[in-house]
Amino acid sequence: MEQICDKNKCSGCCACMNACPKNCISMEYDEYGVQLPVVDKDKCVDCGLCARVCPVNTTPKLNDPKKAIAAWHLDDEIRKKSASGGVAAAFYETTLEAGGVCYGTVFDEDLKLVIKKAENMEQIKAFKGSKYVQAYVGYTFKDVKKELERDKSVTYIGTPCQIAGLKSYLKKDYDKLVTVDLICHGVPSIKYLQDHVKDIEAKINKKADDISFRGEYSFELTLYENKEVIFRKYRFLDNYFTGFLNGLFYRNNCYSCPYARQQRVSDITIGDFWGLGQEVPCNYSMSKGISVILPNTEKGLEFVKKASDKLFMKERPLTEAVNGNDQLRHPSEKHANYRQFMDMYPNYGFEKSATECTKKDIAEFKKEERKKNVRRVLSKGKRICKKIIGRQ
Ligand SMILES: Cc1cc2nc3c(=O)[nH]c(=O)nc-3n(C[C@H](O)[C@H](O)[C@H](O)COP(=O)(O)OP(=O)(O)OC[C@H]3O[C@@H](n4cnc5c(N)ncnc54)[C@H](O)[C@@H]3O)c2cc1C
Repeated sequence: MEQICDKNKCSGCCACMNACPKNCISMEYDEYGVQLPVVDKDKCVDCGLCARVCPVNTTPKLNDPKKAIAAWHLDDEIRKKSASGGVAAAFYETTLEAGGVCYGTVFDEDLKLVIKKAENMEQIKAFKGSKYVQAYVGYTFKDVKKELERDKSVTYIGTPCQIAGLKSYLKKDYDKLVTVDLICHGVPSIKYLQDHVKDIEAKINKKADDISFRGEYSFELTLYENKEVIFRKYRFLDNYFTGFLNGLFYRNNCYSCPYARQQRVSDITIGDFWGLGQEVPCNYSMSKGISVILPNTEKGLEFVKKASDKLFMKERPLTEAVNGNDQLRHPSEKHANYRQFMDMYPNYGFEKSATECTKKDIAEFKKEERKKNVRRVLSKGKRICKKIIGRQ
């Protein structure tokens, strides 16, 4: 097989690698650390299965969300540790209670993000939290098929392109499979994150063994060693986080993602409920994290009902969710410095390239913060003056 799909559209979903009957496809990294399938031509028998299961060549069926629900986990601790409302955790718990298995992401010892299977409550703990980098799917699709054939219930949570890959690989729907996709900005290659962490480690002379991107109710890049925080930086002050949020260095295919739209590839879509209260007033506070749940199929709807004992849920207008969340309408746009970053990275590495390409964004953020602080001080000053004058 000369080419499985157009390289610029490949999402690295691994469907081809899972499907290959000769095991002659592996995922390798290009100079940007982007995972791409490579075929061992000596072993390949040109059966064409890889190209047929590739979701780039045949987009899986998409479904319109049946409704939009604002939701959060009733356990405050779980909600705190999750990226938004903790609905992913509720779905995993529901699956395990029914004797099923779950798939989600964890950082391995090299800080590579991988998708793994969990069979008990302890194992799902590490799935919590959004990891803003591409996860390696590995052979989990094969494993899902094996579990389904053993009549196990399976819940698989991933980015929409990963769910598209899983569905294309499986070729048919299974009653006991629930797919959940994240509303997704786009994913950077793992290499950028690893480079960034190495740079921080060298500066602080410590070795990180875990990473989180969203702390208790806020967005911060945090590195841990033996569960102790060794580094923490606010999102708009960190060049990796700023680059991620502003679309500086996603995989090429993310900028034309066919799944960044209202019609969805999975049974259930989850994300942050940006825009909550903008069409119909409500008094929920976003500060604790509120998820949006979009059940897209009857199976998805039924599954959400099963998880209802763990979640606070309130139906909201679908348009409120769609209008509030860009990635339910279109893919992310490229940052103005995207080309510059891509030109610089192979020669100068991550730190220099990202620092140069985000310096304007970070300077602007600092300027805004200074203005806010001045406003805060002035209004405090006014309040104190009023009090003094009032007393005279
Ligand atoms: C790369 C990325 C981009 C995102 N962009 C947006 C966005 O633009 N708008 C929006 O509303 N929401 C976005 N989200 C989703 C959001 O951050 C939350 O994950 C979502 O609201 C669910 O939160 P939760 O509290 O229910 O679960 P969490 O505790 O956050 O659990 C999240 C689930 O996502 C899985 N996961 C985490 N990181 C990855 C990854 N890199 N690849 C595959 N699976 C992963 C975990 O394994 C777990 O199953 C994004 C998430 C990721 C990972």
